[in-house]
Amino acid sequence: MLIRESLEEMERKTFSPHAQLSSTTKGRAKGERECDLRPPFQRDRDRIIHSKAFRRLKHKTQVFLSPTGDHYRTRLTHTLEVSQIARTISRGLRFNEDLTEAIALGHDLGHTPFGHAGEEVLNQISPDGFSHPEQSLRVVDRLERDGRGLNLTYEVRDGIVEHSKGKGEIIPQHPSEKTSTLEGQVVRAADVIAYVNHDLDDAIRAGVIREDDIPDECSRTLGKTHGERIDTMVKDVLYTTLSTLDQRISLSMSHRVIETVLKLRDFLYERVYDSEVVHGDFVKASKILIELYEKFTGDVDFFLREIGRDELYDTIDKCVCDYLAGMTDRYAFHLYERMFLPRPWSIL
Ligand code: MG
Repeated sequence: MLIRESLEEMERKTFSPHAQLSSTTKGRAKGERECDLRPPFQRDRDRIIHSKAFRRLKHKTQVFLSPTGDHYRTRLTHTLEVSQIARTISRGLRFNEDLTEAIALGHDLGHTPFGHAGEEVLNQISPDGFSHPEQSLRVVDRLERDGRGLNLTYEVRDGIVEHSKGKGEIIPQHPSEKTSTLEGQVVRAADVIAYVNHDLDDAIRAGVIREDDIPDECSRTLGKTHGERIDTMVKDVLYTTLSTLDQRISLSMSHRVIETVLKLRDFLYERVYDSEVVHGDFVKASKILIELYEKFTGDVDFFLREIGRDELYDTIDKCVCDYLAGMTDRYAFHLYERMFLPRPWSIL
Protein backbone atom coordinates (compact mmCIF):
# COMPACT_ATOMS: atom_id res chain seq x y z
CA MET A 1 0.00 0.00 0.00
CA LEU A 2 1.30 3.47 -0.89
CA ILE A 3 1.93 5.95 1.91
CA ARG A 4 -0.78 8.21 0.46
CA GLU A 5 -3.27 5.36 0.50
CA SER A 6 -2.51 4.50 4.11
CA LEU A 7 -2.94 8.16 5.10
CA GLU A 8 -6.28 8.25 3.30
CA GLU A 9 -7.27 5.07 5.09
CA MET A 10 -6.38 6.69 8.42
CA GLU A 11 -8.62 9.67 7.55
CA ARG A 12 -11.57 7.34 6.90
CA LYS A 13 -11.05 5.67 10.26
CA THR A 14 -10.44 8.70 12.46
CA PHE A 15 -12.11 11.78 10.93
CA SER A 16 -15.51 13.16 11.89
CA PRO A 17 -18.28 12.02 9.52
CA HIS A 18 -18.63 15.71 8.57
CA ALA A 19 -14.99 16.16 7.56
CA GLN A 20 -13.92 16.40 3.94
CA LEU A 21 -11.93 13.27 3.12
CA SER A 22 -8.92 13.69 0.86
CA SER A 23 -9.97 10.63 -1.12
CA THR A 24 -13.37 12.10 -2.04
CA THR A 25 -12.12 15.45 -3.36
CA LYS A 26 -13.86 16.79 -6.44
CA GLY A 27 -10.36 17.02 -7.86
CA ARG A 28 -8.42 19.43 -10.04
CA ALA A 29 -9.36 21.33 -13.22
CA LYS A 30 -6.50 19.59 -15.03
CA GLY A 31 -6.19 15.90 -14.20
CA GLU A 32 -2.88 14.83 -12.64
CA ARG A 33 -1.30 11.62 -11.50
CA GLU A 34 -1.72 11.21 -7.71
CA CYS A 35 1.35 11.58 -5.53
CA ASP A 36 2.67 8.38 -3.92
CA LEU A 37 3.30 10.10 -0.60
CA ARG A 38 0.85 12.93 -0.11
CA PRO A 39 -2.95 13.11 -0.28
CA PRO A 40 -4.27 15.92 -2.53
CA PHE A 41 -4.80 18.65 0.12
CA GLN A 42 -1.37 18.12 1.63
CA ARG A 43 0.04 18.52 -1.86
CA ASP A 44 -1.94 21.76 -2.33
CA ARG A 45 -0.60 23.10 0.95
CA ASP A 46 2.96 22.43 -0.26
CA ARG A 47 2.32 24.12 -3.62
CA ILE A 48 1.08 27.24 -1.85
CA ILE A 49 4.13 27.41 0.42
CA HIS A 50 6.44 27.08 -2.59
CA SER A 51 4.63 29.83 -4.53
CA LYS A 52 6.12 33.26 -5.13
CA ALA A 53 2.94 34.99 -4.01
CA PHE A 54 3.33 33.34 -0.60
CA ARG A 55 6.86 34.71 -0.16
CA ARG A 56 5.70 38.20 -1.07
CA LEU A 57 3.26 38.23 1.86
CA LYS A 58 6.15 39.04 4.17
CA HIS A 59 6.43 42.57 2.76
CA LYS A 60 2.73 43.36 2.54
CA THR A 61 0.93 45.51 5.09
CA GLN A 62 -1.44 44.01 7.64
CA VAL A 63 -2.49 47.25 9.37
CA PHE A 64 0.60 49.34 9.93
CA LEU A 65 2.28 50.46 6.73
CA SER A 66 5.71 48.87 6.09
CA PRO A 67 6.49 48.83 9.80
CA THR A 68 10.09 49.34 10.89
CA GLY A 69 9.46 47.69 14.28
CA ASP A 70 10.26 43.99 14.16
CA HIS A 71 7.23 42.84 16.12
CA TYR A 72 4.37 44.19 14.01
CA ARG A 73 2.36 41.72 11.97
CA THR A 74 2.67 41.57 8.23
CA ARG A 75 0.39 39.68 5.85
CA LEU A 76 2.66 36.66 6.24
CA THR A 77 2.52 36.47 10.02
CA HIS A 78 -1.24 37.12 9.86
CA THR A 79 -1.53 34.15 7.50
CA LEU A 80 0.48 31.94 9.85
CA GLU A 81 -1.65 32.95 12.85
CA VAL A 82 -4.84 32.18 10.90
CA SER A 83 -3.40 28.81 9.94
CA GLN A 84 -2.43 27.96 13.50
CA ILE A 85 -5.85 28.90 14.93
CA ALA A 86 -7.71 27.13 12.12
CA ARG A 87 -5.68 23.95 12.57
CA THR A 88 -6.35 23.89 16.31
CA ILE A 89 -10.09 24.13 15.61
CA SER A 90 -10.03 21.57 12.81
CA ARG A 91 -7.99 19.05 14.76
CA GLY A 92 -10.29 19.42 17.78
CA LEU A 93 -13.31 18.71 15.59
CA ARG A 94 -11.53 15.88 13.74
CA PHE A 95 -11.87 17.74 10.45
CA ASN A 96 -9.29 17.60 7.67
CA GLU A 97 -6.30 19.56 8.97
CA ASP A 98 -4.41 19.48 5.65
CA LEU A 99 -7.36 21.01 3.82
CA THR A 100 -7.78 23.62 6.56
CA GLU A 101 -4.10 24.54 6.41
CA ALA A 102 -4.04 24.78 2.62
CA ILE A 103 -7.02 27.17 2.61
CA ALA A 104 -5.55 29.24 5.45
CA LEU A 105 -2.12 29.61 3.85
CA GLY A 106 -3.67 30.55 0.51
CA HIS A 107 -6.49 32.80 1.66
CA ASP A 108 -4.68 36.15 1.37
CA LEU A 109 -2.36 35.45 -1.57
CA GLY A 110 -4.23 38.04 -3.64
CA HIS A 111 -3.91 40.81 -1.09
CA THR A 112 -2.69 44.13 -2.44
CA PRO A 113 0.14 46.23 -1.05
CA PHE A 114 -0.94 48.77 1.61
CA GLY A 115 -3.63 46.52 3.14
CA HIS A 116 -7.29 47.24 2.61
CA ALA A 117 -6.57 50.72 1.28
CA GLY A 118 -4.86 49.11 -1.70
CA GLU A 119 -7.85 46.87 -2.22
CA GLU A 120 -10.26 49.81 -2.08
CA VAL A 121 -8.25 51.78 -4.62
CA LEU A 122 -8.10 48.95 -7.13
CA ASN A 123 -11.80 48.30 -6.63
CA GLN A 124 -12.58 51.93 -7.42
CA ILE A 125 -10.34 52.39 -10.45
CA SER A 126 -10.61 49.04 -12.17
CA PRO A 127 -13.64 48.73 -14.51
CA ASP A 128 -14.14 45.11 -13.35
CA GLY A 129 -13.82 45.96 -9.64
CA PHE A 130 -11.41 44.17 -7.34
CA SER A 131 -11.68 41.98 -4.25
CA HIS A 132 -8.84 40.18 -2.54
CA PRO A 133 -10.54 36.75 -2.17
CA GLU A 134 -11.22 36.68 -5.93
CA GLN A 135 -7.68 37.84 -6.59
CA SER A 136 -6.33 35.07 -4.32
CA LEU A 137 -8.18 32.57 -6.51
CA ARG A 138 -6.80 34.24 -9.64
CA VAL A 139 -3.28 33.96 -8.23
CA VAL A 140 -3.56 30.20 -7.67
CA ASP A 141 -5.55 29.54 -10.86
CA ARG A 142 -3.86 31.78 -13.40
CA LEU A 143 -0.93 33.86 -12.24
CA GLU A 144 1.45 31.55 -10.42
CA ARG A 145 4.05 29.53 -12.31
CA ASP A 146 4.21 32.01 -15.18
CA GLY A 147 0.54 31.75 -15.99
CA ARG A 148 0.08 28.00 -15.54
CA GLY A 149 -1.39 28.30 -12.04
CA LEU A 150 -1.10 25.79 -9.19
CA ASN A 151 -3.98 23.57 -10.36
CA LEU A 152 -5.36 23.19 -6.81
CA THR A 153 -8.30 21.02 -5.79
CA TYR A 154 -11.86 22.29 -5.88
CA GLU A 155 -12.20 22.38 -2.07
CA VAL A 156 -9.09 24.50 -1.49
CA ARG A 157 -10.08 26.94 -4.27
CA ASP A 158 -13.62 27.21 -2.87
CA GLY A 159 -12.30 27.88 0.65
CA ILE A 160 -9.96 30.59 -0.65
CA VAL A 161 -12.54 32.50 -2.67
CA GLU A 162 -15.26 32.34 0.02
CA HIS A 163 -13.03 33.16 3.00
CA SER A 164 -14.13 36.73 3.60
CA LYS A 165 -16.93 39.16 3.05
CA GLY A 166 -15.24 42.15 4.65
CA LYS A 167 -17.29 43.24 7.62
CA GLY A 168 -19.73 40.33 7.09
CA GLU A 169 -20.72 37.55 9.46
CA ILE A 170 -18.07 35.42 11.13
CA ILE A 171 -20.08 32.31 10.44
CA PRO A 172 -22.35 33.00 7.45
CA GLN A 173 -25.92 31.76 7.61
CA HIS A 174 -26.93 32.15 3.98
CA PRO A 175 -26.08 29.11 1.82
CA SER A 176 -24.69 31.32 -1.00
CA GLU A 177 -22.01 32.62 1.35
CA LYS A 178 -21.05 29.28 2.82
CA THR A 179 -17.98 27.39 1.72
CA SER A 180 -18.65 23.90 0.44
CA THR A 181 -16.65 22.33 3.29
CA LEU A 182 -16.65 22.83 7.05
CA GLU A 183 -12.89 23.27 6.85
CA GLY A 184 -13.53 26.40 4.76
CA GLN A 185 -15.86 27.72 7.47
CA VAL A 186 -13.15 27.08 10.05
CA VAL A 187 -10.69 29.27 8.14
CA ARG A 188 -13.21 32.08 7.79
CA ALA A 189 -13.80 32.12 11.56
CA ALA A 190 -10.07 31.74 12.27
CA ASP A 191 -9.31 34.72 10.01
CA VAL A 192 -11.54 36.97 12.14
CA ILE A 193 -10.26 35.50 15.43
CA ALA A 194 -6.67 36.07 14.29
CA TYR A 195 -7.02 39.62 13.05
CA VAL A 196 -9.16 41.10 15.84
CA ASN A 197 -6.63 39.81 18.34
CA HIS A 198 -3.36 40.63 16.59
CA ASP A 199 -4.55 43.99 15.28
CA LEU A 200 -5.55 44.92 18.82
CA ASP A 201 -2.12 43.85 20.04
CA ASP A 202 -0.32 45.81 17.29
CA ALA A 203 -2.48 48.90 17.85
CA ILE A 204 -1.50 48.88 21.53
CA ARG A 205 2.17 48.39 20.57
CA ALA A 206 1.88 51.34 18.18
CA GLY A 207 0.31 53.53 20.87
CA VAL A 208 -2.85 54.09 18.79
CA ILE A 209 -4.95 52.73 21.67
CA ARG A 210 -4.23 51.73 25.24
CA GLU A 211 -5.04 48.45 26.94
CA ASP A 212 -7.73 50.11 29.08
CA ASP A 213 -9.48 51.58 26.01
CA ILE A 214 -10.76 48.08 25.19
CA PRO A 215 -14.51 48.06 25.97
CA ASP A 216 -15.17 46.56 29.43
CA GLU A 217 -17.67 44.09 28.10
CA CYS A 218 -15.03 42.66 25.71
CA SER A 219 -12.47 42.17 28.47
CA ARG A 220 -15.08 40.66 30.78
CA THR A 221 -16.39 38.13 28.27
CA LEU A 222 -13.26 37.39 26.28
CA GLY A 223 -10.45 37.88 28.77
CA LYS A 224 -7.92 40.49 29.80
CA THR A 225 -4.89 39.36 27.81
CA HIS A 226 -4.17 38.58 24.17
CA GLY A 227 -3.73 34.87 24.96
CA GLU A 228 -6.92 34.65 27.06
CA ARG A 229 -9.00 36.26 24.34
CA ILE A 230 -7.81 33.87 21.61
CA ASP A 231 -8.35 30.95 23.99
CA THR A 232 -11.94 32.03 24.76
CA MET A 233 -12.83 32.39 21.09
CA VAL A 234 -11.23 29.13 19.97
CA LYS A 235 -12.83 27.14 22.81
CA ASP A 236 -16.19 28.73 22.09
CA VAL A 237 -16.05 27.64 18.43
CA LEU A 238 -14.92 24.15 19.41
CA TYR A 239 -17.38 23.40 22.21
CA THR A 240 -20.41 25.09 20.61
CA THR A 241 -19.79 23.28 17.33
CA LEU A 242 -19.25 19.93 19.06
CA SER A 243 -22.55 20.21 20.90
CA THR A 244 -24.61 21.22 17.83
CA LEU A 245 -22.91 19.53 14.87
CA ASP A 246 -25.18 16.51 14.84
CA GLN A 247 -28.32 18.65 14.51
CA ARG A 248 -26.90 21.33 12.27
CA ILE A 249 -23.97 20.68 9.96
CA SER A 250 -22.25 24.00 10.38
CA LEU A 251 -19.58 25.65 12.44
CA SER A 252 -21.14 27.45 15.44
CA MET A 253 -20.30 29.98 18.12
CA SER A 254 -22.32 31.01 21.14
CA HIS A 255 -24.45 34.10 20.74
CA ARG A 256 -22.68 35.83 23.64
CA VAL A 257 -19.15 35.36 22.30
CA ILE A 258 -20.06 36.17 18.69
CA GLU A 259 -21.72 39.44 19.75
CA THR A 260 -18.70 40.40 21.84
CA VAL A 261 -16.26 39.62 19.02
CA LEU A 262 -18.35 41.81 16.69
CA LYS A 263 -18.26 44.56 19.27
CA LEU A 264 -14.48 44.28 19.46
CA ARG A 265 -14.28 44.42 15.67
CA ASP A 266 -16.44 47.60 15.61
CA PHE A 267 -14.13 49.10 18.22
CA LEU A 268 -11.12 48.32 16.00
CA TYR A 269 -12.73 49.91 12.97
CA GLU A 270 -13.57 53.04 14.87
CA ARG A 271 -10.37 53.47 16.84
CA VAL A 272 -7.76 51.84 14.61
CA TYR A 273 -8.58 51.05 10.95
CA ASP A 274 -10.50 54.29 10.30
CA SER A 275 -8.43 56.43 12.66
CA GLU A 276 -6.62 59.51 11.38
CA VAL A 277 -3.17 58.10 12.08
CA VAL A 278 -3.70 54.76 10.30
CA HIS A 279 -6.02 55.92 7.54
CA GLY A 280 -4.04 59.08 6.78
CA ASP A 281 -1.00 57.13 5.57
CA PHE A 282 -3.21 54.89 3.51
CA VAL A 283 -4.59 57.85 1.62
CA LYS A 284 -1.03 58.83 0.69
CA ALA A 285 -0.14 55.25 -0.23
CA SER A 286 -3.28 54.98 -2.36
CA LYS A 287 -2.03 57.80 -4.57
CA ILE A 288 0.98 55.66 -5.47
CA LEU A 289 -1.26 52.91 -6.81
CA ILE A 290 -3.52 55.36 -8.65
CA GLU A 291 -0.61 57.04 -10.45
CA LEU A 292 1.01 53.73 -11.37
CA TYR A 293 -2.33 52.43 -12.66
CA GLU A 294 -2.88 55.50 -14.84
CA LYS A 295 0.64 55.45 -16.22
CA PHE A 296 0.51 51.74 -17.14
CA THR A 297 -3.02 51.65 -18.59
CA GLY A 298 -2.24 54.79 -20.62
CA ASP A 299 0.89 53.36 -22.23
CA VAL A 300 0.63 49.66 -23.06
CA ASP A 301 4.09 49.41 -24.68
CA PHE A 302 5.70 50.93 -21.64
CA PHE A 303 3.79 48.52 -19.40
CA LEU A 304 4.85 45.50 -21.48
CA ARG A 305 8.49 46.56 -21.26
CA GLU A 306 8.10 46.99 -17.51
CA ILE A 307 6.74 43.46 -17.00
CA GLY A 308 9.07 41.92 -19.60
CA ARG A 309 6.39 40.53 -21.91
CA ASP A 310 5.68 40.79 -25.65
CA GLU A 311 1.91 40.84 -25.34
CA LEU A 312 -0.94 41.14 -22.86
CA TYR A 313 -2.48 37.92 -21.51
CA ASP A 314 -5.81 39.63 -20.65
CA THR A 315 -7.31 43.14 -20.92
CA ILE A 316 -4.90 45.94 -20.06
CA ASP A 317 -6.90 46.75 -16.91
CA LYS A 318 -6.73 43.17 -15.67
CA CYS A 319 -3.01 42.85 -16.40
CA VAL A 320 -2.21 46.12 -14.64
CA CYS A 321 -4.40 45.15 -11.68
CA ASP A 322 -2.61 41.80 -11.42
CA TYR A 323 0.74 43.55 -11.49
CA LEU A 324 -0.21 46.15 -8.88
CA ALA A 325 -1.98 43.66 -6.59
CA GLY A 326 1.04 41.38 -6.67
CA MET A 327 3.42 44.09 -5.48
CA THR A 328 4.80 44.26 -1.97
CA ASP A 329 4.64 47.64 -0.23
CA ARG A 330 8.33 48.26 -0.79
CA TYR A 331 8.22 47.23 -4.45
CA ALA A 332 5.43 49.78 -5.04
CA PHE A 333 7.41 52.47 -3.19
CA HIS A 334 10.58 51.79 -5.20
CA LEU A 335 8.79 51.61 -8.52
CA TYR A 336 7.01 54.88 -7.86
CA GLU A 337 10.26 56.52 -6.90
CA ARG A 338 11.98 55.26 -10.06
CA MET A 339 9.15 56.33 -12.33
CA PHE A 340 8.03 59.64 -10.90
CA LEU A 341 10.75 61.16 -8.76
CA PRO A 342 13.96 62.73 -10.10
CA ARG A 343 17.17 60.99 -9.18
CA PRO A 344 19.91 63.15 -7.74
CA TRP A 345 22.93 63.39 -10.12
CA SER A 346 25.66 61.32 -8.51
CA ILE A 347 28.78 61.99 -10.69
CA LEU A 348 31.14 64.42 -8.97
MG1 MG B 1 -6.90 37.23 6.21
